[in-house]
Amino acid sequence: MQRMIFLAILAMTGWLGAQNVQRGSIKGEAPDFYEFAPPLVYKPRYKHDERREKIILNPDFFCTQCSKEGRIKYKSRDEMKDILEMTKKFPIPMDNGQKERHHGRFRLMDRPAGPIIKGLFAQKKAKHPVFIEDKTIRIFCDLPGFSTKKFTYPRRVIELEQLADIFPKISKKTVVLNWHHHAHLYLIRAHRVLRDFKSLVKIEKYKKTMTFKGPYMGMYEKWEIFIFQRQANMLGFIKGTLGSADEDGRCWHNLTDASMSAILHAQKRNDLQLNNTFTHRFAYNVITGYRKYEYDLPTWVALGYAHLMERRERTDFNTYLLGEQRTPKFPRHKKWKVKIRKMVMTKKIPRSFAEIAAFEKLSDIPPIEHYLIWSQMSFLMQRSQDKMGLFINFLKDKKTGESTRNLVIRALRIAYGLSIPVMEEQWKQWVVDTYPAV
Ligand SMILES: [Zn+2]
Repeated sequence: MQRMIFLAILAMTGWLGAQNVQRGSIKGEAPDFYEFAPPLVYKPRYKHDERREKIILNPDFFCTQCSKEGRIKYKSRDEMKDILEMTKKFPIPMDNGQKERHHGRFRLMDRPAGPIIKGLFAQKKAKHPVFIEDKTIRIFCDLPGFSTKKFTYPRRVIELEQLADIFPKISKKTVVLNWHHHAHLYLIRAHRVLRDFKSLVKIEKYKKTMTFKGPYMGMYEKWEIFIFQRQANMLGFIKGTLGSADEDGRCWHNLTDASMSAILHAQKRNDLQLNNTFTHRFAYNVITGYRKYEYDLPTWVALGYAHLMERRERTDFNTYLLGEQRTPKFPRHKKWKVKIRKMVMTKKIPRSFAEIAAFEKLSDIPPIEHYLIWSQMSFLMQRSQDKMGLFINFLKDKKTGESTRNLVIRALRIAYGLSIPVMEEQWKQWVVDTYPAV
């Protein structure tokens, strides 16, 4: 009964039902609800052939498998060059006299994409390789199919609705998605992460700051995503392209092309857990690459945002980006709020916020402090999403010679009217007031 009343209150306040979110029963803590973008009302955009329904007449993406199955008429990615690439014209010539720049070239990991894709498809035990490229994103996936009913997961209905636009046989009643659907699903999810971020930072207001930057939220080339079923295949790929292996994946900035790559694996992870890791890594890349990656954001902001996005999905599986190091063994607590409240109550916070604010590297933040930075980000977010949008944009305006700590001090003051010590005190009070003790 209590649960019914609680749900009714949520429904009244508009927290429930937005975006058809069905988060279901979760072991651990309930996610914090932050909706950045208005609920998505999906309008189908693909026209299908009347006689052979599976054929898409107006594809705006290339997919190796759709091409193979005759769903799109294009046999190769380059036949779609006019749709997938673009030339950005500048209102006035740049300092070097350049009047325009070409974007969307067929590249991956800072090199020609053709051989990379060939290598990925030829990987040992790669059972379901698919490559899809649209106007914004390139994604390689090697995942099996899965049952959408096995676990209650967020946004099942809206995701099926979006998939049905590509695959007419899919409906809201579809239970099993095959490996090809699964790849398209991750492209859909990537667009959701982008949409949420654009809404949060109010990107339209900052278009001017990107006049001479790239068309992909400032980056010059498209967002790259690589999802491997087998961890060994992912490690082989990272080793072959970046030289060093990171056992859980990589978030990578390609220096020459000015693009961002998110690399991850699904071994021993169900789709819910994979969706969490995917959301975390891609959100990290998006906030890092926004307005073109030129320097490191304060680590707690980029990581805190990635945790927050992941924990909006589910809280019972958490991803840790730890930088270039072997993953240490550490306790993976499920109840983060309880843990943090205890830290605050017993005055055992491992590090002051003033110290954390100066960090620029992932390896600066040990696993135990990930709870902390997530909570601090969540504190600022619940105070005001508008201010958070401003805050992120101020952080993207670093002055020459300004230290990361001073940048945080300045951005906090302008966006929130807070100093670091005052913010820390208010955060502690908020934790004590709102987080559960057990
Ligand atoms: Zn396809």
